[in-house]
Amino acid sequence: TGPVLEVHDLHVTFRTEGGPVPAVAGIDFAVEPGKTLAIVGESGSGKSVSTAAVMGLLPGNAEVTGEVLLEGQELVGLSNEELRKIRGNDIALVFQDALSALNPYYSVGWQVAEAYRLHHDVSKKEALKRAVRMLDLVGIPSAQRRANDYPHEFSGGMRQRVVIAMALVNDPKVLIADEPTTALDVTVQAQIMRLLEEVQTEFGTALVLISHDLGVVAEVADDVLVMYAGRAAERGTVRDLFHRAAHPYSLGLLGAMPRVDVPPRPRLTTIPGSPPSPGSIETGCPFQPRCAYTERVGERCITERPELTPRPGEGNHEAACHLGRRPEVAL
Ligand code: SF4
Ligand code: MG
Repeated sequence: TGPVLEVHDLHVTFRTEGGPVPAVAGIDFAVEPGKTLAIVGESGSGKSVSTAAVMGLLPGNAEVTGEVLLEGQELVGLSNEELRKIRGNDIALVFQDALSALNPYYSVGWQVAEAYRLHHDVSKKEALKRAVRMLDLVGIPSAQRRANDYPHEFSGGMRQRVVIAMALVNDPKVLIADEPTTALDVTVQAQIMRLLEEVQTEFGTALVLISHDLGVVAEVADDVLVMYAGRAAERGTVRDLFHRAAHPYSLGLLGAMPRVDVPPRPRLTTIPGSPPSPGSIETGCPFQPRCAYTERVGERCITERPELTPRPGEGNHEAACHLGRRPEVAL
């Protein structure tokens, strides 16, 4: 079986009064059934915009080009009506903020049932039965009874479970989870991630996890795409990223990650500076202003845009950096 979702050369540009503002400048990714692709990067890297583009959820001033193939079907250019049939059905989304995904005025059972009825021609009673089953599956205790309760009657973690139940009720092929645990405390975060993994094993769902938490990524991802300023900085398996990171930006992210299992590196720092907007760096490497390795490479970092290039002998591991050899030590 091949990938269920494939994205090729995706560009997103927002038309504004001040001119076009690029947000995503050509990225590729794919995810297979039952696998997890993590997309990581700081805020503003284009990770959320990319997945919103996949879902057809961008505002009207967004211009999207490239290919988004769901089981081979092209989604770019579909009408809103056609996209509505796919969204929540074949591809579902879980956001970080469960409260905004739920309507305060309806019981959770009703909301999960309606999400099902949107895509299935069944009676309300039948839909509610399925809703209760889903609430039970995601670990809501006494689901039958709690289905009648309203969102504010649940804890943050339980609300996120309800949102996941709603996302899964139509048995989607792809689940996109955008920082799904950020608003939750650490214990609940772990429970929710475990739940997503269980669901994935049970239903063979492909998961696209957007996260800035590399601890979570290390635990659940199969493949990782590191984004910087609307582009791919590095791409590979989770092993590639954590054992042989090749891009200085990835190394920076890893250095910024607290680890309990290894002693901290001698100079554990966060990366100074902040990411540029994708349009502001016209030539050279977008990471150059923050890169500690640029002096070793020289002019090329400023004059020539690094493209994703395979790492020799490392399978599908790719990095977009002019440094020939791996930067072993954080500077
Ligand atoms: Fe740093 Fe140059 Fe590599 Fe960009 S291309 S990450 S500036 S070394
Ligand atoms: Mg985001």
